[in-house]
Amino acid sequence: MNEIVELTAGVIRTSRSMNDGRTIRYYDTAGQSRTAIDERPQEEQPGIGELRLDPLLNEWVAMAAHRQSRIFLPPKELCPLCPTTGELLTEIPEKDFEVVVFDNKSPSLRPPTGDFALPDEVATDTDEGVAAGKCEVICFTDNHGGAFKDLSPQRVRTLLEAWRDRTAELSKAPYIEHIAPFENRGEEIGVTLAHPHGQIYAYSYLPPRVVKMLEIAVAHKAKTGRVLFDDVVARELRDQVRIIAQNEHWVAYTPYASRYPFEIHVAPLQPVADLTELSPAACDSFPAISLEVMKRLDGVFGIEMAYIAAWHQAPVRQGRDVLRLHWQITSVRRAPGKLKYLAGSESAMGAFIMDMKPEQSAQQLKDVKI
Ligand SMILES: [Zn+2]
Repeated sequence: MNEIVELTAGVIRTSRSMNDGRTIRYYDTAGQSRTAIDERPQEEQPGIGELRLDPLLNEWVAMAAHRQSRIFLPPKELCPLCPTTGELLTEIPEKDFEVVVFDNKSPSLRPPTGDFALPDEVATDTDEGVAAGKCEVICFTDNHGGAFKDLSPQRVRTLLEAWRDRTAELSKAPYIEHIAPFENRGEEIGVTLAHPHGQIYAYSYLPPRVVKMLEIAVAHKAKTGRVLFDDVVARELRDQVRIIAQNEHWVAYTPYASRYPFEIHVAPLQPVADLTELSPAACDSFPAISLEVMKRLDGVFGIEMAYIAAWHQAPVRQGRDVLRLHWQITSVRRAPGKLKYLAGSESAMGAFIMDMKPEQSAQQLKDVKI
């Protein structure tokens, strides 16, 4: 059965059930009617994983052993994220699509059955928890060989609308505490499917980086009365030298203390807690700056850069007055044929060493002719 909802920017969402009970959502702008049926045989769903507490750092680790059998870099003829055509029955039953979001087939986190509560975080005797949450896949285009930077501005606007819609809906689930849409691109960083897509992770706990950012932001507010991220953006605007793109509503810069050879943060100039709070004008001007940033990134060496592009949002239920929405793009590529590996200092000690200043990467990004 179809559930049809009208979103903003002329986007219509049609939700349908897949053969195994998962949901697929089509985000359309051209009046399409979505009626294709998922005709694949039913497969058994993996169970929910475990959450184990690392007491040394007081951090949760999700154990999702069933993900071992995931399909790895299939050729286009076997791509599960292409539309269904002819013999190949994929995750998307329709023969074309604009943007789709569907529940991940091998999720690291899945909705719990019944009431959910995290065990108390104590020490080595902390109870094992269930890996509650939700993992979704978001396909940006039905063009297998495409890339974010090649999307039309209208498609990026539709994609943003889908991210906003998912954030709004997932925020309503009582077991969800934090929502992180992200895209991994490039075999270098472990991408298993080449089709342009991202993921949406909705956690039942705050990820460690969010816990740390929240603590620091709360302390800064108590001390100064100001929001730390706003101060950071103000410094970048004052310094100017690391800004690589700017329009009326957004600014993109390589942060003062970047950790990666090419790290770019894109922030709205009117700060908000999450994607749902963006003004219509900010939404409408996101395609221009995001496409410019991605074109600059690929233009630096004239090759497709491997990157992780992740939305940082305030958590669903706390810190909404001190944490700010921003889009963080990090690339491990420092030169053609050279990657930055997270080695001893970074992996074992958490201490990043940069052999290139962000002022230099900003200049390289600015020099790209687009
Ligand atoms: Zn594909």
